[in-house]
Amino acid sequence: MSRLCLAAWGKLTVAPAGDALIAARSLTVRFGQVTALDNVDLAVRRGEIVTVIGPNGAGKSTLVRAMLGLVPASAGGVRRDPTIHVGYVPQHLEADRTLPLKVDCFLALGAPSAGLEEKQAELAEVGASNLIDAPLQALSGGEMKRVLLARALLRAPDLLVLDEPTAGVDVAGQADLYGLVRQLRERRGCGVLMVSHNLHLVMAATDQVVCLNHHVCCQGLPEVVTRDQAYLDLFGSGALAEIAVYAHSHDHHHDVSGALVPKNGDGYGVGSGEQGDG
Ligand code: ADP
Ligand code: MG
Repeated sequence: MSRLCLAAWGKLTVAPAGDALIAARSLTVRFGQVTALDNVDLAVRRGEIVTVIGPNGAGKSTLVRAMLGLVPASAGGVRRDPTIHVGYVPQHLEADRTLPLKVDCFLALGAPSAGLEEKQAELAEVGASNLIDAPLQALSGGEMKRVLLARALLRAPDLLVLDEPTAGVDVAGQADLYGLVRQLRERRGCGVLMVSHNLHLVMAATDQVVCLNHHVCCQGLPEVVTRDQAYLDLFGSGALAEIAVYAHSHDHHHDVSGALVPKNGDGYGVGSGEQGDG
């Protein structure tokens, strides 16, 4: 019997299979006339890194926010293991960066019961032990991401949710951050749900990739280089160079607005890594 229970925030139509920490089933989110997510299925298991990729406006942040209960489902729903702790690193910092706030106090806002030692330990774990007294507004992009990660870790998460963890971070720092996420997964055995636009770094750093453009275009394991034309259509001509190891298949194109255009039988869509398509 599944140990998942109906989360308080969404409708649920189909019970997720297996041992997922969190699972979306047929998740649809509409904002007025805009369908941000259409019938999305996604699950994250303990010890697994699942990365959502997709163009700007594809619904990636909406997906993680809906999975965390921060955005209501219009149809379908989300189940979450009720026993787990979730640590969330949002795409945008919600705190006012103009406030004269030190890192120490900022961490306390996220985890009021955490002592100084605990905060220092988490900062050390993310390679930011020198920042405890730093003013928040003086941090670089990479430092800020590490502080946000430390804040999430203070919750002793079973599931770590990272929305664009490398946005605003320089290239060397991006690889470091993905390496850190992998280390955290290995050390703690937590599940990781991540949104990213760093295609090649993602492929090296993830177990499952979900290609999202409002619906799930495809999902699967990172694999051999793909020459999938639909993928290139979705991510642009730089994608082939950027993406090193991922093969998957589409049965459709997207036009410039992201709308679905059925495949016209031109022979692409032969990726061996295909697990499903929308
Ligand atoms: P991504 O993270 O992939 O760039 P988002 O999830 O932020 O995309 O946005 C997906 C779509 O949903 C966009 O068209 C965006 O404008 C719209 N959207 C997101 N959040 C809201 C909201 N709170 N109200 C209205 N529209 C929203
Ligand atoms: Mg986003």
